[in-house]
Amino acid sequence: MLSAGECIEHEPALKATSRKIAGGVLVPDAEVGDCNKFGRALGDILVEKLGARIKYGVKVLRLVQGQNRVEALETSQGLLEAELFVLATGTMTGKFLGARFEGKMPITGVKGISVTFPAGPVAPNCSVADTAKKIIMLGLGDRVRVTGYGIFSDKTDIRQQHVRLLIDKARALMPNAANFDQPQEIWAGLRPTTPNDLPMIERAGYQNLYVNAGHGSLGWTLALGSAEILLDKIMIEFGRDLPPEN
Ligand SMILES: Cc1cc2nc3c(=O)[nH]c(=O)nc-3n(C[C@H](O)[C@H](O)[C@H](O)COP(=O)(O)OP(=O)(O)OC[C@H]3O[C@@H](n4cnc5c(N)ncnc54)[C@H](O)[C@@H]3O)c2cc1C
Repeated sequence: MLSAGECIEHEPALKATSRKIAGGVLVPDAEVGDCNKFGRALGDILVEKLGARIKYGVKVLRLVQGQNRVEALETSQGLLEAELFVLATGTMTGKFLGARFEGKMPITGVKGISVTFPAGPVAPNCSVADTAKKIIMLGLGDRVRVTGYGIFSDKTDIRQQHVRLLIDKARALMPNAANFDQPQEIWAGLRPTTPNDLPMIERAGYQNLYVNAGHGSLGWTLALGSAEILLDKIMIEFGRDLPPEN
């Protein structure tokens, strides 16, 4: 637990704040990162080292079902056959999960918005949550990002008034952190959220169909652990040997 003074000592970007700081909670091992960079780099590793093929811009239209198995995916680019399928389609997952899957939960999209700016003279070193204003601000090298909002929606449209409010809150929290007049990127995404806020990571009604979806506001944090849990289940239930370590 930190006093207001200790918060500023720890994060000098808060020195010029117009917010009244009551105190703070420091999470020493919290980290920040660029999830887009992470995703692209992971994709490269899968392609280059493991021979994966990634098909962008292909829409899955329906699962082609057999007796107990999914035989193929009908996609916008024709049929795609495989031995095993994993549904990781975020808020759209419910569309493909049939009544045969007893663990099925509805997934609701909770829209969030992020705005990224060029860093200013006193950019933050860590990630700071202003819990009263419900925003998070963080430094990403030569950029500063603010995120906020929890809007029930399945669309990623962005209202200008929401962006303006987010920028005002960011400026109030850390006035010298960024060039707030020149946002570089304005982005909206959906947090795929289940009623109990737990993801579905399991076999989904068919012998060869698995689901990995519904990670809410923590999908990136939970991504690698979820994949490992799913892989363990597949290895046990589907009866395949573990792939080589690398
Ligand atoms: C503003 C904001 C800040 C966030 N901050 C954090 C954070 O700091 N840490 C953290 O861990 N998480 C954070 N999250 C949450 C995180 O982004 C989500 O939990 C995560 O993206 C969920 O991943 P997913 O792959 O399950 O779903 P998604 O990211 O929604 O991906 C699903 C994919 O499936 C595709 N798809 C859907 N239907 C079809 C179809 N029919 N055919 C083909 N493709 C289809 C979609 O195009 C999409 O690419 C944040 C979210 C937001 C909005």
